[in-house]
Amino acid sequence: MNAAKVVEDLKVRFPNEPEYIQAVSQVLPTIEEEYNKHPEFEKYNLIERLCIPDRVIEFRVTWVDDKGNVQTNMGYRIQHNNAIGPYKGGIRYHKSVNLGILKFLAFEQTFKNSLTTLPMGGAKGGSDFSPRGKSEAEVMRFCQAFMNELYRHIGPDEDVPAGDIGVGGREVGYMFGQYKKLTHQFQGVLTGKGIQFGGSLIRPEATGYGTVYFLTSMLATRGIELAGKKVLISGAGNVAQYAAEKCLQLGAIPMTMSDSDGYIYDPDGIDRAKLDYIMELKNVERGRIKEYVEEYPTAKYYEGKRPWYEKADIALPCATQNEINGDEAAALVKNGVIAVAEGANMPSLPEAIKIFQDAKILYAPGKASNAGGVSVSGLEMSQNSERLSWTAKEVDDYLKRIMNDIHENCVKYGTQADGYINYVKGANVAGFMKVAKAMMAQGLV
Ligand code: NDP
Repeated sequence: MNAAKVVEDLKVRFPNEPEYIQAVSQVLPTIEEEYNKHPEFEKYNLIERLCIPDRVIEFRVTWVDDKGNVQTNMGYRIQHNNAIGPYKGGIRYHKSVNLGILKFLAFEQTFKNSLTTLPMGGAKGGSDFSPRGKSEAEVMRFCQAFMNELYRHIGPDEDVPAGDIGVGGREVGYMFGQYKKLTHQFQGVLTGKGIQFGGSLIRPEATGYGTVYFLTSMLATRGIELAGKKVLISGAGNVAQYAAEKCLQLGAIPMTMSDSDGYIYDPDGIDRAKLDYIMELKNVERGRIKEYVEEYPTAKYYEGKRPWYEKADIALPCATQNEINGDEAAALVKNGVIAVAEGANMPSLPEAIKIFQDAKILYAPGKASNAGGVSVSGLEMSQNSERLSWTAKEVDDYLKRIMNDIHENCVKYGTQADGYINYVKGANVAGFMKVAKAMMAQGLV
């Protein structure tokens, strides 16, 4: 394989999908050497078969708003690769959603799911519908309309969606209800379900907790403890909230949180009571992060800005893709950040990753550090299959073990001659090899 040539060809074939091309172009150069050790991969054109999704489902979603207006949105499901297990990946509801963004997420998900050690293929789905500002009834009607089409394409052994941006327990619940209504089947067809109907304990916490578990493993390679460290967190949603919670439990101090309008910086740190306030604000009242400074006036709100110019020890981007550019990465390094662990998917632009790696700071790509969410989704599938519910401790212990295994795999495949651990390479090679071997064994399908 010539990675640059494969990327160029994909660019020509999919010119309107920059995020997808970005994701592919970040992975291929890191697996090129390993790939070329296996001439059989090239003979069967494994790389194109791995980059191009198995299937793309695209549909119109029609629903009626509270004023009686008929609305249309686009719906998508990208079934990327099921070589090692049923398709698995979240559903995103956000106005920015398009085919290219979901293709990048599904591609990444395939490697991530492989890393978890659990039998899950890669997928992603979503809609350009934004739940922001919508009534409860509108969100429910939209979720039902979305499922009216999606239900044909999913199943517990076929494709098991979960949440992502804009899709939390509420939306998963409405989609599950509609699936059940349409199929007459009570099945583990979605993960992130409510605890009363097949959800797993620790699933809401899993991505944020897992990111911080991974961070502590990275710090341990340099003999550094998390306790006492100041942490910049972006986002104020599911991943950000539980990353902050685990930081607090381990003695670190979250300094910032954000949403798509701006960020807050609290010079005294965000303590447990303040995090409770944020959780209530975002999850129940569905408010904006700027309201924090009305409650805690010593904090400051910065409209339209991101938190990366603040001084701290650690950065946890937990909002969305491409939220750290080169200038911001340089500012983080200059201000003494020692570790960046991605809670979000692809939050760092390629130039930012280069700056982190050139500075030899600890840097974990999302496909490794945020894999805790899908891992516990995999455990939710196991619990659904055996009709049992595990205790919170059992799930949390399993999560810790998986994050530790992922870290060890990254070290195994990513340690350079100078001792620096290239987590990007480690994660990509480890994730790739398992899927590649499974694809080879299954023939040209
Ligand atoms: P939520 O919807 O719960 O929260 C997303 C947060 O990010 C919100 O604070 C949101 O602000 C902010 N945000 C969203 N889009 C943008 C944007 N374009 N610019 C700036 N801020 C933005 O989503 P999650 O916490 O579930 O997901 C966050 C990230 O983590 C995503 O990249 C997702 O793919 C990734 N992830 C999530 C997993 C999960 O289990 N949920 C698993 C693995 C990865 P606002 O309220 O203004 O929209």
